[in-house]
Amino acid sequence: MIDMIAFDADDTLWHSEVLYASTQARFRELLAPYRQGDNALQELYETEMRNLQTFGYGVKGFALSMIETAITLTGGRIRGDEIQQIIGFAKEMLSAPIQLLDGVEEAVQELSREHRLMIITKGDLFDQETKVARSGLVPYFDQVEIVSGKTAEVYRSLLEKHGLAPGRFVMVGNSLRSDILPVLELGGHAIHIPYEVKWAHEAADRPHETQARYAELEGVAELPAYVDKLRQRDLDDPLEVSD
Ligand SMILES: [Mg+2]
Repeated sequence: MIDMIAFDADDTLWHSEVLYASTQARFRELLAPYRQGDNALQELYETEMRNLQTFGYGVKGFALSMIETAITLTGGRIRGDEIQQIIGFAKEMLSAPIQLLDGVEEAVQELSREHRLMIITKGDLFDQETKVARSGLVPYFDQVEIVSGKTAEVYRSLLEKHGLAPGRFVMVGNSLRSDILPVLELGGHAIHIPYEVKWAHEAADRPHETQARYAELEGVAELPAYVDKLRQRDLDDPLEVSD
């Protein structure tokens, strides 16, 4: 019944948003002497949103948005050594050790015994590749796909590429917008595991109808048992999935 279980990576397999949150706090402190600390994060968010189309997702685009915001908010008075500090923040983010979420290794190991597993992550290719390699999780996954965005269209082409039928595909992730809604739209299964820190850009309304193809779990440790349950259902017959 299930041909592939795909995982988002950032904030699903390992911590990521906490790195952004702590860097934002340092950025805010950096701009405090310019009396711009209070505006810094809202302005940074708006700059990031404007720049997504140009830079895409990831730390490097985030760094450029911090620099742009600092120049704008200080009216060009930000000093070269302060810009150097911002670049340093980004380098620290890019080399930070990978911290797996609790229970990830055990859950992935268990699921890999009976299922094909895949990572689907968006962001900067080089950064995401090295994170996957450093995570220690590579042996459990059959495929790794790094994409620039996670729209229904992108998922559709990934499913085609790997010869997967949507009804036999499960996506697991922390973002309703990127991991859940587009997969449900295609007729796939989606399991939402919310993360402690949310990026406003990824926010979306929960799927409003109670969908048999959708579930929310508290943690990844619950996943193997849930997948077992899912597998035992007749996925094509809605009468059988009303429990
Ligand atoms: Mg994520």
